[in-house]
Amino acid sequence: MQIMVAMKMQINGKAAGACGGECFEVKNPATGELIEQVPKGTEEDVSLAVDAAVSAFEGWASTSPQQRGMVFYRAAGLVRQRKEELAALLTQEQGKTLSEARNELEGFAHVLEYYCGLTGSLRGDFVPVPGNGYAFTVKKPLGVCAAIIPWNMPALIMGWKIAPALISGNTFVLKPASNTPLTNLTLASILNEAGLPAGVLNVVTGPGETTGESLVRNSNVRKISFTGESKTGKRVAELAASGMKRVALELGGSDPMIVCDDADIESAVAGAVRGRFYNCGQTCTAVKRLYVFESVAEEFTRKLEAGVKKLKVGNGLDKTTDMGPLSNRRQLEFIKELVVEVKEKDEGKIITGGKVPAFKGSDKGYFFEPTLVSDVSGDSRLLKEEVFGPLLPIVTVKNLEEAIGEANRSIYGLGASIWTKNLDRIRAGCEQLNAGIIWVNQHLKVAPEVPFGGVKESGFGRENGPDILSEYLETRTIMVKTP
Ligand code: NAD
Repeated sequence: MQIMVAMKMQINGKAAGACGGECFEVKNPATGELIEQVPKGTEEDVSLAVDAAVSAFEGWASTSPQQRGMVFYRAAGLVRQRKEELAALLTQEQGKTLSEARNELEGFAHVLEYYCGLTGSLRGDFVPVPGNGYAFTVKKPLGVCAAIIPWNMPALIMGWKIAPALISGNTFVLKPASNTPLTNLTLASILNEAGLPAGVLNVVTGPGETTGESLVRNSNVRKISFTGESKTGKRVAELAASGMKRVALELGGSDPMIVCDDADIESAVAGAVRGRFYNCGQTCTAVKRLYVFESVAEEFTRKLEAGVKKLKVGNGLDKTTDMGPLSNRRQLEFIKELVVEVKEKDEGKIITGGKVPAFKGSDKGYFFEPTLVSDVSGDSRLLKEEVFGPLLPIVTVKNLEEAIGEANRSIYGLGASIWTKNLDRIRAGCEQLNAGIIWVNQHLKVAPEVPFGGVKESGFGRENGPDILSEYLETRTIMVKTP
């Protein structure tokens, strides 16, 4: 399949190589084949990108929000026109299936359109105050904002980061993950084609420890929005604090799914299959721990096993594939290590999966079978750590109180779901589950219309929803004394 790739960085509206001249390779996780070489950005490249964003700021901030919205509107149209080509690119660099890639690109286009619709809300207030005079507030963009993003949903997360910042009049520098920069670079060039002025959106590729850190350290960057592992998030928070920058952290998760005895079992099974194995289990809000009432555990587990066994693992470009490979070797090795540990420590029973699938070429990619582990013991790492891959631990509970207690016994608090028809149970779940997003009779659905983010080690700050605009704006108060 012929794909068009923007393989250079995007600095000041132009394709740019690395100042140091070095490159790194982006490989297809399904085949191990080289897709593209991308510049290994240096600190100097980060400075150039931030300088370009500083220079572009005044012009962009003085355009009307409606003009900015029109750029987004055109870009969303271009993304839809080129969806098949972009989906193939995203599948090849990330591993997800073509249908997952199309969904993600549709999500990116929808995010842009959502923020077009918010342009009218970029306004201040008139405030009567006691005494002689009045006050009003105006909203000012912060300046240069930046984001560092992971590889699991590169297009969607890019949309969540850039759209509220740019629509508010800020300029931007984006650092993609090193194994998935190609879709991000191509989307940035599409935004430029749609009319984004040079320097408003810049993309610098390179390693997190150098390129990422120098972006956080740069004194002209006023806000950092980070998505990635909790450990990296803490480092980013430290650096941001010393530069007195705003920071938002969207970090890891270990979402529980609670299946009560009155749940619609068929729909809960379908929800667990999709919730866990979508994107090969590499979604921050994937179902990562399953708590099932003991009276329905046998039926639920049997049906879940049947559903999981139907998933066809393969190259995401193959239309018949339900689950692609893991996105990189590190993830595959981690999942293999967990399975070995479960067996060695007798921490649970592997009821399906648990190994690399045996199909022609499976040894070339990072494939792993969708895996279910039942009877998982409480101290297993499957329940304590974030399992970012196709491995689902199942725990049996007596009642809702025990389920919620176990669900909350995690360092993470991103999402959680409760599956029941009982209103009292729904209310108890919504009130007592300690998470940023709670789903009822579903899991995984996200939308730019509503806030998204976690509590505890899942981070702080929110993406999406109308209130996010205030995160990218300063409020200036003006007090007027009337004669
Ligand atoms: P990661 O933390 O390893 O990397 C994320 C980004 O940070 C990459 O671009 C990387 O290059 C960069 N980076 C690495 N070290 C850095 C440093 N010292 N300073 C600055 N930047 C640095 O995470 P990952 O493996 O790419 O992504 C998977 C993680 O992301 C999972 O934990 C997942 O749950 C999380 N995630 C969270 C959300 C959310 O919204 N809460 C969404 C998607 C993914």
